[in-house]
Amino acid sequence: MRIIESIADMKKFRLKLPEPVGFVPTMGYLHEGHLALVRHAKSENKSVVVSIFVNPTQFGPQEDFGKYPRDPQRDLAMLETVKTDAVFMPPVEEMYPPGYDTWVELGKITHRLEGAARPTHFRGVTTVVTKLFNIVQPNRAYFGQKDAQQALVLTKMARELNMDDLEVITLPTVREPDGLAMSSRNIYLSPAERKGATVLYQSLRLAEQLYQNGERDARKVHQQMLDLIQKEPLAQVDYISIANAETLDELDTIKLPALVSLVVKFGRTRLLDNIVLR
Ligand code: AMP
Repeated sequence: MRIIESIADMKKFRLKLPEPVGFVPTMGYLHEGHLALVRHAKSENKSVVVSIFVNPTQFGPQEDFGKYPRDPQRDLAMLETVKTDAVFMPPVEEMYPPGYDTWVELGKITHRLEGAARPTHFRGVTTVVTKLFNIVQPNRAYFGQKDAQQALVLTKMARELNMDDLEVITLPTVREPDGLAMSSRNIYLSPAERKGATVLYQSLRLAEQLYQNGERDARKVHQQMLDLIQKEPLAQVDYISIANAETLDELDTIKLPALVSLVVKFGRTRLLDNIVLR
């Protein structure tokens, strides 16, 4: 496994990698959700590149960029076990030298949900992922359904910016045995918060059940999800959304495919999860 820190070295090494090349961008502090992406990429490509880069431009000024968990040695050991070919881990100044001021920005779809809660977040994501695509030049790139809006935004970006030699692939959310979606930020949870955090997936399953039982009124589903979450004293709902799974337009009447997504805060930790009703 080759560990690469400079853009020039990554570009040089890319020329030697057998194609097709699969690419998994991450912010590190890896877990089984990341490894599932790498394994899948490995299964359908000749080479796999993983990036580890805590991207400062996707964090708001009051967010956890400085505190975001980091453990590169552990990450590298995990990536060895899934036969990663190269790990690209540039320092911040390599990606954003002094005076850096070029941005990739999408429209409406980035103003909803996470974009409404975190106004500069998606501009940071689309900019860094475009840079990473230009550096790594993958044939396929893999993202997790865990960040449903991000996956939609990046798929739309690749299509609309004519990144035609690149396939963007979204893979299912990997969960803990009790249903909590795996996330690097789960480490922030106290034992009591960790226990209460199962309420996110429970509320998503409730929405699914209600739909299966014939409920089509999005407000009623929303209310029942809210009632369930409010039974958990440590949980604070940031938002619950029932939206068209492609445009993210909010729905009054549930029509398929619908994305049911939510953010619930435990203390200062924002937990994000979703399911798609199909
Ligand atoms: P992050 O390191 O959090 O930026 O995530 C890197 C990639 O892993 C993104 O495409 C995420 O959507 C994906 N990912 C994170 N958590 C999970 C999970 N529990 N299951 C599947 N993919 C995930």
